[in-house]
Amino acid sequence: MSDPFAPAPEWEWERVRPPTGRGRPTLAVFKLASCDGCQLSLLDHEDALLRLADVVQIAEFAELSSASMPGPYDLVLVEGSVTTPADAARVAGIRDAARRLVAIGACATAGGIQSLRNFADEPALARRVYAHPEYLATLADSTPVSAHVRVDAEIHGCPVDGGELLEVVAATLAGRRPITRPHAVCEECKQAGHACLLVTGRAACLGPVTHAGCGALCPGVDRGCFGCFGPSESPNTSSLAAGLARRNISEKSLRRLLRTFTAAAPAFATESARHGDV
Ligand code: SF4
Ligand code: SF4
Repeated sequence: MSDPFAPAPEWEWERVRPPTGRGRPTLAVFKLASCDGCQLSLLDHEDALLRLADVVQIAEFAELSSASMPGPYDLVLVEGSVTTPADAARVAGIRDAARRLVAIGACATAGGIQSLRNFADEPALARRVYAHPEYLATLADSTPVSAHVRVDAEIHGCPVDGGELLEVVAATLAGRRPITRPHAVCEECKQAGHACLLVTGRAACLGPVTHAGCGALCPGVDRGCFGCFGPSESPNTSSLAAGLARRNISEKSLRRLLRTFTAAAPAFATESARHGDV
């Protein structure tokens, strides 16, 4: 997986200035197929948001305000995956209006929980769930924003860490590269002083192959990491899967472990496919 925070060519040096002469830089937040949880993570940082509102013009943010300004926007955060033709058309328009576009959360960066349908017979699922599936217009797969338009950076997590989100906004305004955590959950787990669930045999854990950012929440309460921050950089999923198999974790359990929040992320999708189809 490429470095999600690799800067766009001009990222590090070009301070964001309003292209429209409207005063403060403009921030817009849009959602596609998602639960709004990542937007709520930003709203949770109420005090920081108030300070942010002093330095940026919040042009579009449906979870925060009904106010709506037309683009172009200096910074756009996009939550959610692309699951319908309408989503695909909309995200193309959003890209056209964005000087910087950051995909936020597991849905926007890896297709999200809804990408579980990528591994199933989607028309058959629709017939089981909906009384009138003929009214649905869906794409074959749930895909990340980067599968459709250029993305300047990605923030992982289901939901994202609000502090990391604010750091990306601050870095954009300052014209510098965001300071984020590139390591795996195991490092956070060791820093927190938790006993390793794999070593002690108490649970299967995706920590060695999962992007940091949660502070090892699940291992902290004796639950194995579910991988909601998606694959870390250069994850050795096959080695971890082989190790879990030696601990008598079944093929089905392995598959389910890898197919949860970021099932369509290539590193998890490829490894899960080695452990059966359904
Ligand atoms: S990544 Fe998780 S919390 Fe964020 S919108 Fe998607 S489902 Fe909700
Ligand atoms: S419990 Fe999981 S996250 Fe923590 S060190 Fe062990 S494998 Fe890594």
